Amino acid sequence: MKSGVNATTKLIFEEKKAIKLFLWLFYIFYFAFDILYYYFYPIYTKSNSLGFPRDGLGLWLYVLVLGLLYPAIYYYKKENPYIIKYIIVIGYVIIDTTNVIIVNFGSLKPFDTGNIVEILFFFFSPIFVNKKYFWTASSLIMGRYLFLGLVLQDKRYFFPIVIYLIIFAISWIILIRFYSYINSLKNAYEELRQKEKLATMGQMAAAIGHEIRNPLASLRGFTQLQQERNPNTNDFYPIMIQEIDRINIIVDDLMYLGKPKAIQIEKENIEEIIAYTLSILQQQARRQGVNVETVMEGPLPPIDCDEKQLKQVFINLIKNAIEAMPDGGKIKINLKAPKENKLLITIQDEGCGIEDEDLLNLGDPFYTTKKEGTGLGLMVTNNIIKDHKGELIINSRIGEGTKIEVVLPITQK
Ligand code: ADP
Ligand code: MG
Repeated sequence: MKSGVNATTKLIFEEKKAIKLFLWLFYIFYFAFDILYYYFYPIYTKSNSLGFPRDGLGLWLYVLVLGLLYPAIYYYKKENPYIIKYIIVIGYVIIDTTNVIIVNFGSLKPFDTGNIVEILFFFFSPIFVNKKYFWTASSLIMGRYLFLGLVLQDKRYFFPIVIYLIIFAISWIILIRFYSYINSLKNAYEELRQKEKLATMGQMAAAIGHEIRNPLASLRGFTQLQQERNPNTNDFYPIMIQEIDRINIIVDDLMYLGKPKAIQIEKENIEEIIAYTLSILQQQARRQGVNVETVMEGPLPPIDCDEKQLKQVFINLIKNAIEAMPDGGKIKINLKAPKENKLLITIQDEGCGIEDEDLLNLGDPFYTTKKEGTGLGLMVTNNIIKDHKGELIINSRIGEGTKIEVVLPITQK
């Protein structure tokens, strides 16, 4: 994919910027620290050991550390900058640790090691936004002091570990913050893309829906007329009308996708809405051997809602429940007002259930597992319920069935 390539090049570009900064700072800190330590510090304290140490690797130490630049530049040019930070950390730790061991092994020289550049390794992990690097660098740096302390039998090598543990914690916190920031950016971008996709598809869907609607209305009218004219050939007319109504439901969903209508709130009776829904779906239910049982717990107050839209919600939900039981079964619909200003409608089926990983996709437009599904129902349902400041809760167990809970506020304040 084209965008994939672009994203990768951008990432490489970012890494290159970071690694360049890292290399500059690494060498500046490294040499500045040693120059200060071996030239300026002795002058200031009037000690007599002026100049770079000649023991251990001697000047070879600096040659080797500079030599790390060679593979670094090589991989930089090879467009594989990710590996460079590891080369530097591992290279530094090996070279410097070797030097310390040669200088101090078997001698009683004072503890004199470490370079401020090591802090840089920690603080660059948030900049590389890389947990693997963070763990590698911090365990190498701290591990090296542990190793030196054990090999040279000198407790003073453990002191830097204490300091580095604090730095470790701080840079871990920064790294985690960077991660979550980047993640939220990613999510926002994904959402935006989804919205854009939806907007385009929605416009198309709405246009098509609109075109289908009018011919469908006249088709339904004439079919009804025909049914009245020929009362003795009644058999097919109800089915024809019902099928047209079914197309109408799909068209409604399609059009909702294009331009969600502003809701028109009025006080409505929820039982009537459910009863209407069932009247539309009863044929299909009967054909599939599905029984619907409605239980109303107590008298329910009228609810502030857009009647047409709520009908669309329950048609979608109950239709899904019926379709989940191709071999028949029972649907329990329960209506109650569990709390002040809350109405709870539960729709429970004994159908096929939904896989856990599919639950996440349910709200996506065009996501369907059915041969003749549109994948619009739940998405529209979700949006309508959100517009009503309500909540849709789906609980499902594979093979046992699905329980859908719709929570709606009774009054829209
Ligand atoms: P459609 O019904 O056209 O497939 P929906 O948006 O209504 O689209 O539903 C999306 C998917 O969610 C369905 O294809 C189905 O896999 C799953 N689903 C929804 N309701 C149920 C249910 N009651 N039981 C099992 N699966 C369901
Ligand atoms: Mg559906």
